[in-house]
Amino acid sequence: MTPNEFTRRIRPEDPDVVVVGAGLAGLAAARALSAAGLHVQVLEATDRIGGRLAGHRLDGYLLDHGGQLLGTGFPGLIRRLDLPDLPLSPLAPGVLVHSGGRRHRVGADRAQGARPPARSPLGSPLEKARLGATLSRLAATPVPKLLARPETTTARALTERGLPGRVVEGFLRPLLTALLSDPALGTSSRIADLALRGYARGRLALPSAGTGEVPARLAAALPPGTVRLDTRVTAVGADGVRTAGHGWIAARAVVLATDARAAAELLPGLRLPDFHPVTTYYHTCADSPLAEPVLLLDGDRTLGPAPISHSLVLSQVHESYAPAGRTLVATTVLGRRAFPGGPAAAEPAVRERLAELYQGSTRDWDFLSVRHLPDAVPAMPPPHNFRRPVRLLAGLYVCGDHRDTSSAQGALVSGRRAAAAVLRDLDVAPAQPRQDQAAA
Ligand SMILES: Cc1cc2nc3c(=O)[nH]c(=O)nc-3n(C[C@H](O)[C@H](O)[C@H](O)COP(=O)(O)OP(=O)(O)OC[C@H]3O[C@@H](n4cnc5c(N)ncnc54)[C@H](O)[C@@H]3O)c2cc1C
Repeated sequence: MTPNEFTRRIRPEDPDVVVVGAGLAGLAAARALSAAGLHVQVLEATDRIGGRLAGHRLDGYLLDHGGQLLGTGFPGLIRRLDLPDLPLSPLAPGVLVHSGGRRHRVGADRAQGARPPARSPLGSPLEKARLGATLSRLAATPVPKLLARPETTTARALTERGLPGRVVEGFLRPLLTALLSDPALGTSSRIADLALRGYARGRLALPSAGTGEVPARLAAALPPGTVRLDTRVTAVGADGVRTAGHGWIAARAVVLATDARAAAELLPGLRLPDFHPVTTYYHTCADSPLAEPVLLLDGDRTLGPAPISHSLVLSQVHESYAPAGRTLVATTVLGRRAFPGGPAAAEPAVRERLAELYQGSTRDWDFLSVRHLPDAVPAMPPPHNFRRPVRLLAGLYVCGDHRDTSSAQGALVSGRRAAAAVLRDLDVAPAQPRQDQAAA
């Protein structure tokens, strides 16, 4: 026996399964595997869990890493989160779109049963009624039917589906840009249909205690000691992983649950998608520029120095986002663009545009922080495969948002799928769903 074979032998204290990465996909996989009675070790390279769905406090403000919006209507999201008691704070119904120098509210009338204003910059009352009917139809369409529609890019679908130009430009394009993090709308039209369906069925919402609450609750359900932080995996195989500081860890199965780029580095045969970068600016001020937590979309998206996609007064969504008496505003800039001098150098231009969007001076606002993620969201051009294989070979599995859809939900689903494949190969029965989940 060579030393290598010796060290790779599984000892009783070795985990059954090593999960690489403590993002949503890894935590969801670990949770399903632990629930089935397996000994699971989650190895996370950084000093915190959550991956891209996390947040931190700065000077008493809660900064979500990105403007994550969990749509309550997205199919089965809460059920799949396995967190039916996660407190969610809904945004106000509809969205506020700024276009052509004016702001208009879209969608709120549908939710509140009020009549649309007679003179709306979005279009005639008839156009608004058609939009309402389109959204209602979408909300009622079963997912399999939506997925059977011809697939093209979102941009092309918007022009080909015969909707009035003002409805497209004044509402659908800015809303989809924000929901898909894709200003060029090159995303598969099927993904756009699903995103719009989710929007039409429910309300956009944020976890009341910040997006970091989602991974925190998933991890809290794992046996103590399951997650090991500050442990970077440098090589993976079907029988274990090599780590930067702790040598080889043997296991009966390995689930690679990193982001797409790290996965492709560890397993070079894996597909590396393109990514949509996301830059989020955080400002604080004394008085809230809006009286309610409504998503503000920049419908003009001028190609100037700061093409804002959307902005939200987070402290209006929930008071936990800012210290008492203060306001926190998060603003998202999308697109692959060079920031000469870095993203912070573009802040004055962002602030200037925010004054137009919020229709008030932003001179007294404090610039708190900016976060730029070049690989924020894997691109999903057509044709998009909603269920990429998660089983590479017996003992080696891969999951993450890049295997399903680039979203919290996609990450969770892929983690569950990978866990199911491991359990099948190891001939272990999955845990029975709780009554409330089985009924959901
Ligand atoms: C700015 C932004 C805004 C977003 N907005 C939304 C939204 O509104 N709605 C929505 O549904 N989704 C949104 N998303 C997408 C969503 O956050 C992600 O799809 C999801 O969190 C991905 O989870 P994951 O587990 O697949 O990957 P990740 O969260 O990337 O987790 C991977 C983990 O693996 C770890 N890792 C990497 N390499 C190694 C290694 N070698 N060894 C050990 N560990 C390693 C990483 O540190 C990380 O913790 C947004 C994302 C961003 C960045």
